[in-house]
This record gives sequence, structure tokens and C-alpha cells, in this order.
Amino acid sequence: MSTFQAPKGTYDLTPPRSATFLAVREAISAPLRDSGYGYIETPGFENVELFARGVGESTDIVTKEMYTLTTKGGDQLALRPEGTASVLRAALEANLHKAGNLPVKLWYSGSYYRYERPQAGRYRHFSQVGAEAIGTEDPALDAELIILADQAYRALGLRQFRILLNSLGDKECRPVYREALQTFLRDLDLDEETRRRIEINPLRVLDDKRADVQKQLTDAPKLRDYLCDACKAYHEEVRALLTAAGVAFEDDEKLVRGLDYYTRTTFEFVHDGLGSQSAVGGGGRYDGLSEMIGGPELPSVGWALGVDRTVLALEAEGVELDLPATTSVYAVPLGEEARRVLFGVVTELRRAGIAADFAFGGRGLKGAMKSANRSGARYTLVAGERDLAEGVVQLKDMESGEQTAVPLTEAAAELAKRLG
Ligand code: AMP
Repeated sequence: MSTFQAPKGTYDLTPPRSATFLAVREAISAPLRDSGYGYIETPGFENVELFARGVGESTDIVTKEMYTLTTKGGDQLALRPEGTASVLRAALEANLHKAGNLPVKLWYSGSYYRYERPQAGRYRHFSQVGAEAIGTEDPALDAELIILADQAYRALGLRQFRILLNSLGDKECRPVYREALQTFLRDLDLDEETRRRIEINPLRVLDDKRADVQKQLTDAPKLRDYLCDACKAYHEEVRALLTAAGVAFEDDEKLVRGLDYYTRTTFEFVHDGLGSQSAVGGGGRYDGLSEMIGGPELPSVGWALGVDRTVLALEAEGVELDLPATTSVYAVPLGEEARRVLFGVVTELRRAGIAADFAFGGRGLKGAMKSANRSGARYTLVAGERDLAEGVVQLKDMESGEQTAVPLTEAAAELAKRLG
């Protein structure tokens, strides 16, 4: 233990559990890579205004949870609390939308930061894999993204997740609903902060977790009754495409999500084994975001899946990922001369694409064989002075226990043959 510990609300990923995180990132991104999404990477921090405008001035993320800082040069920056605003900013900056190939389909993977009250499944530093499809309004695109997330979770072996689906309307019908909702909410018995929220973002009041608030909301006007015909038709088409694809979902008219930019389709993936932090991923359509950050009209849709909570969901379901052993061959030298010779063989194996490791530090046979076992290697190579004098190494099959002497010059070729 050192004098220091990981900051509150954060944790380190260390082997062997870290391998699961890599496998989850890989599994979530694989269906995207196979579906025309290109990789994008943006800085870990941005101009604070991007999030204030993009995510929304009234959201918890912006008002309470952002890590902000002023640089020595006087710039106001924020560690990124989410990915969409940054990705859209970067796509606009690189003019990707002008290449005549819409939608611009992008995927990303990285660290995000929110100053939240830490608890199981809720951290101040967490990891997401996300996807954004920019510049096209097409219900098939919304359906594609939901289907790909479902495919990723299923490929990982998750079963106990549900997809919640809603439509938040567009710039035609949402304002009408917003006003009706505000009129209703202003008559309720609510605290000052919630009253302020009614004026800035009344939909978020529906999301209030407190029982006394929820009790008063029973007769609140429903967005469903206010959707314009275009939004209704769009939503029906998304639903029909999901159904045709065999992807089950639940209509959840209370789903508003904690970010202001969503329009029309919104969805969340929830897992029933996670307790209160049950959302493993979420997303939706954000047709107005580009204009909000100074870009042209670019209707878009995207999602972000939380890697930390996906790993917790796997653990909750008892799913063991089939992670292949990282080392195929482990070399154990006995003595100085053998160390030089076997290190050469290991280098040769690695250059031939065979994963190999080596007992460093001149350890005895017993300790080195323990490490060989722990490495999960299929084969070990052992050589001592007598073997070298005879020009051989001992090749041991760790599964069968069978050991054979192989000419030193043929060891690498023999292993390549055996490992296929
Ligand atoms: P959001 O942008 O809030 O919808 O987040 C998308 C996903 O990121 C969530 O469903 C979680 O899986 C993950 N996530 C968000 N905030 C946190 C957090 N504080 N700790 C861990 N995971 C988080």
C-alpha cells in the first residue's frame, strides 16, 4: 500500500478483472464496426460552454456534476460528463457532414467524469462505449442503433435486461405539451427548486423520484396525447422495425432521461440485477443539438452504454466470459546460458505471432512452474545445462502433462505447428 489511494468515487481496473472490461468494450463495439460506424476519439475535456449548451443548463449533469477548471491561460474547461456533445462538435469541426455521405456513423470508447454521490454502480469516473449517427432522420436508423445494442448485450450473454422506449416529440408538438404540463405543475404543492425546474425543464419534474411528488403527478397531461402526427408515425415505424427484428421493448411514457437535447425516440437499457443504478445504457434522437451548438440542422440519434454497469450486470447474472488465455507458451530457463537461449526462442515466438512469456529473475524450477500454471499457457519450454549440451529443450503439454525433448532449432516451428 502506498500513501495514496484512488480518489473517492473511482476505482482501478487491475488483472484479472480488467480483462472483462476490455472484452465488454470489444463486444459492444464489434456490431458497430460491422455496421459502418467509424472510430472517433475526442479530448477528455472541452470548453465548458459546449456542455452547458449541449447537455442543458438545467440538468443535474451541468449544474451539479461537472468537473470544471480554469486553465492558467484563463480557459474555462470541463472534464467530459458524456460523449454526444463532444462527438458532434468534432464531426462539425472536421466537416464530416459535408462529405456527402450522411448519416455520419461514429463509435467511441472512453472515460467520463461526473461529480456524483458515489454508490454501487455510480462512480465519479466511469467508462462508456457510444455510437452516434449524425445527419439523417430515418426511423430505421433509430431502430438500427437499438438493435445493435441489443445484439451486443446478447453476444455478451446478458439476458435480464429490458429496453424502455418513448417518444419525446419534436419542435412542433413538444412546446405545446410543455406549456400544458407547466400549467398543470404550477398548481401543485412543490418546493422552490422544483418550481424553478417547472420553468426551465418541466419534463424533468416527471422524473422526480420522491413519493409525495409522484402522488401529485397522477393526472399530469401525457406527452403521448400531444404527439403530432409526424412524431406518432415516426415512433410507430421505430416500434414496428424493432418488433420485426424480434427485439422486445416496453413502452415507457415516463422515460425523459437526464439530458435536455433529446427529441422523438428515447430509450434506456435497464438491468434487473443492479438495484437502484439499473440503467446500463441509454440514448435517443437529438435533432436540435447541432443547431444548439452553432452547427447546421443535422437530425441525429445515438446511445452510450456504460461499461462499468455492464460488467456488474454480467456479474449479477453469473455470466463468465470465455476469455482466451493470453499466454500460449511459457519459457522456464534453468541457468545463465539457458536464460539467453530461451529468451531468444521467446522473442522468435512472439515475432511469429505466438503469445509467449518468460520466467524472469532467475527463479528456481518450482516457482517458475507455478507462474507457468498461473499464466494459463498451453505449453512450457524448459531448458537446463544438460538439455543445451544435447541441443534440445523440454516441451511440456500443460493439458496432458506429456513432455518431449525437441531440438532447440526446431522448438519455435514445432510450437507453431502444435498451436495451429
Ligand atoms: P447517461 O448519459 O446518464 O444516460 O449514461 C449512459 C450510461 O452511462 C448509463 O446507463 C450508465 O451505464 C453509465 N453511467 C452514467 N453515469 C454513470 C456513473 N456515475 N457511474 C457509472 N456509470 C455511469
